[in-house]
Amino acid sequence: MVTTPPDAARKEHVSVVFIGHVDAGKSTIAGHIMYLTGMVDDRTLEKYKEKAKEKNRESWYLSWALDINEEERDKGKTVEVGRAYFETEKKHYNILDAPGHKSYVPNMIGEASQADVAVLVISARKGEFETGFEKGGQTQEHAILAKTVGVKHIIVLINKMDDPTVDWCHERYEECKEKLLPFLKRKVGFNPKKDIHFMPCSGLTGANLKEPTKQCTWYTGLPLIPYLDTLANFNASNDGPVRLPILDKYNDRGTIVLGKLESGSICKGQQLIMMPNSKHVVEVLDLYHMPQDEETVHATPGENLRLRLKGIEEGEILPGFILCNAENLCHAGCTFDARIEILEHKSIICPGYNAVLYIHTCVEDVQITNLICLVDKKSSEKSKTRPRFVKQDQECIVRLRTARVICLETFRDFPQMGRFTLRDEGKTIARGIVLKLVPERD
Ligand code: GDP
Repeated sequence: MVTTPPDAARKEHVSVVFIGHVDAGKSTIAGHIMYLTGMVDDRTLEKYKEKAKEKNRESWYLSWALDINEEERDKGKTVEVGRAYFETEKKHYNILDAPGHKSYVPNMIGEASQADVAVLVISARKGEFETGFEKGGQTQEHAILAKTVGVKHIIVLINKMDDPTVDWCHERYEECKEKLLPFLKRKVGFNPKKDIHFMPCSGLTGANLKEPTKQCTWYTGLPLIPYLDTLANFNASNDGPVRLPILDKYNDRGTIVLGKLESGSICKGQQLIMMPNSKHVVEVLDLYHMPQDEETVHATPGENLRLRLKGIEEGEILPGFILCNAENLCHAGCTFDARIEILEHKSIICPGYNAVLYIHTCVEDVQITNLICLVDKKSSEKSKTRPRFVKQDQECIVRLRTARVICLETFRDFPQMGRFTLRDEGKTIARGIVLKLVPERD
């Protein structure tokens, strides 16, 4: 059993999502971090090693550490918020382990929308870097999604440096870095000086996760865990409006909801509104910090929570609904104007185009009803005439209409609820920001 220090709730809560191509080593790294920070003890790890050996999957045992909390989970209910966590003296970290497989990408959007920091795991092993990054791997799509859903800082972990094809070779590290950097800067939009940090590591041996390694004298920066501890506080202030986007819900002797508190503070007994329906008044009966499932009476921004609510049935809630305080409700509607960038789409896009909108934790059918103007990517200049269509790599301002009423804000007012992606046929085709909410029958 993992025990949480009594002051855990006082520490800053940071959510870290591991992204990257399948088999890059995300779970191994996350598992090893839990071991190194004392969240998994030697005996448990031995057990996993044996279990893995039986299944001829010896090298996978570290990633099983991530399943520890899964075993303890509430009656087998899939709790997507914070599967695992670790603590340092300074901070509390929730690990969001996003599966790398293509069909999981929509799932990753929900998880990444909870994250403050993304750790992009890259395999340096010969051939694997190439598959993950260049040949239609998930590396690129994940990085774009992470940025789109509001991750503020990205750490690029060049992993598998221990592999015989790499052997801590500085040139291989630089080769990966040089290929990734222009992409992260130009295509994704991270600022290399402020938002991106590269480091080498081995998830398997644990080198450069907590302690520096002698095998790698050319890297002079901090290892991963100490580096995470140095990052400035990401979270909004306590006195903002209450905004808790619902990630999941279920019924267990009452209505339970899960999500990350993006802004404001919540206490036990407080009355809140479940938007988009302003008549849905609910009361917070119980409040738990996740994933340790520790009861609390007060929660602050950045914390992953489980709440038991009175006044609403589970069936009345959808993921993407938002808990707000009555004095300051979020906006709700169907129609909005947005600036979008077409990332990947083979044919042209015309008014009437249907896609799936992913905005904070909400997923909804959407139609592009009007194309308003094209926007020049460099000068931001708008076209004088309405375009008849848009195509890949163009930016434009469009009017969108969702099938049902959703909660959203303009990007300027509340970035976490004002940025989105559009997906179609299993691909992320565009990303965008909400510019204006359009009242119905405008
Ligand atoms: P994920 O799909 O990104 O979560 O990748 P996994 O953590 O499941 O790892 C995929 C495979 O790569 C497993 O066989 C791991 O043992 C192996 N692997 C992960 N990290 C390292 C590493 O640092 N060095 C080596 N040599 N192998 C690794």
